[in-house]
Amino acid sequence: MSAVSMDVIVSLCKRRGFVFQSSEIYGGTGSCWDYGPLGVELRNNIKRIWWRDFVHQRDDMVGLDASILMHPTVWKASGHVDNFTDPMVDCRECKRRFRADQAGTMDWTHYCPATKGNKFTIKGGEPCKHCGARRTLCPECGKGELTAPRQFNLMFKTFMGPVEEDAALTYLRPETAQGIFVNFDNVLQATRRKLPFGIAQIGKAFRNEITPGNFIFRSREFEQMEIEFFVNPHDRLEGRPADEAWHDRWIADCQSWFTRYGLDPANVKLHEHLGDELAHYSKRTVDLLYRFPMGWNELMGIANRTDFDLKQHAKFSGKSLTWFDEERKEHVVPFVIEPSAGVDRALLAFLLDAYREEEVRGDKRVVLRFHSELAPIKIAVLPLLKKRPEIVAAGHDLRHRLTRRWLTLYDDTAAIGRLYRRQDEVGTPYCVTVDVKTVGDPEKGEAGDGKVTIRERDTMQQIRVPIAELEHVFGRLLDAGTPWSEVAAGYPRAEG
Ligand SMILES: [Zn+2]
Ligand SMILES: [Zn+2]
Repeated sequence: MSAVSMDVIVSLCKRRGFVFQSSEIYGGTGSCWDYGPLGVELRNNIKRIWWRDFVHQRDDMVGLDASILMHPTVWKASGHVDNFTDPMVDCRECKRRFRADQAGTMDWTHYCPATKGNKFTIKGGEPCKHCGARRTLCPECGKGELTAPRQFNLMFKTFMGPVEEDAALTYLRPETAQGIFVNFDNVLQATRRKLPFGIAQIGKAFRNEITPGNFIFRSREFEQMEIEFFVNPHDRLEGRPADEAWHDRWIADCQSWFTRYGLDPANVKLHEHLGDELAHYSKRTVDLLYRFPMGWNELMGIANRTDFDLKQHAKFSGKSLTWFDEERKEHVVPFVIEPSAGVDRALLAFLLDAYREEEVRGDKRVVLRFHSELAPIKIAVLPLLKKRPEIVAAGHDLRHRLTRRWLTLYDDTAAIGRLYRRQDEVGTPYCVTVDVKTVGDPEKGEAGDGKVTIRERDTMQQIRVPIAELEHVFGRLLDAGTPWSEVAAGYPRAEG
């Protein structure tokens, strides 16, 4: 288990080009983030393997990409217009807005009458130790009165069409799920599916969070990887209602997906929603929690949403959203199991879990032990001597050949030790070095051996491999998943 702090990860992300603050040159935008050259690769890898594993490799799943802007009635039917709210209070003086339940726990500003009005910052919930007063005014400015709590909707409003009038008011979607529900019948008609089957979607969603934070954990613009899995509630599976059995299967599948790609099982646990925590439409919800630096927090949720959403959309649209059960000769409204994960949270968890600081011969080495499928760059080609044109040319040639199958980078901007450290720090699983022995030395009448050195990130072991066999070797390592020890056993060790 790694116990890295968020500050260390934020700093690494900026320095190496994983994540930048949005609009940083203008002072940044509240809680929006931009993914840099390595971040976008990592992000795409997460989405690609998720889609491959949950859509392509299953017989019971299809994909969808619905638009972000939807008919405004969708959000009426889903309950978001009326219920997707937080109670907020405003300061009449500085106009700042707080969540009603958080104003009382924040550190507060106090101008103390017992000390000629001196300004103090007092810990949240505590009284002033000079005059004994408790906070009644705005915790931020210490001067304004707070309004009574008002419900504040977390959806971003926008206007469709050229006229900014209420008739054209719509929202940026706060979740991708509704795009799937409103397309249920389209997909059913187009694919002739039978229950149970699922529809998956990856896409952006937007929530005007009042207290975002913890880096990319909670942001106002984020990306979801969601599945709505439709089950016939009248079926029985494993001796109980099919929706309940499928729910457990999805919980297990999601948990094992995260650990397969690198999360330490000790850093992942399940959390059952009980009592008030359970949403009104849900029969049962289980969260997958990850041990983030700020504590155990939701990595994803797996909910049994029953037939709530399809029934709501049938009611508001007047269209029938059912499936015809040929055996029982009846129309049924399917129950829905919803595994819902965030790309950004998954990325943060994979980064945190991969991070290691190690000591190598008295030096500190930072390494991201990414699963090779997640690693942004798979191979780095590094020339040992950049003054020798043959070495540089051979390096460029290798990069071009290898990158057709695996993202490969060429770097000759430092000495080899430093180049290795740079690749370790971004999680590149393999480095290939081209040296004098590879290309030979015509002046001394020495022919090249046509071999290069492959160095593995985690063990730092090196082997000598003929260039002609490189693609075969990387095919075993990166595509077939053959362990390094097994592949390395077939080649002579090179010196470290
Ligand atoms: Zn104020
Ligand atoms: Zn005081």
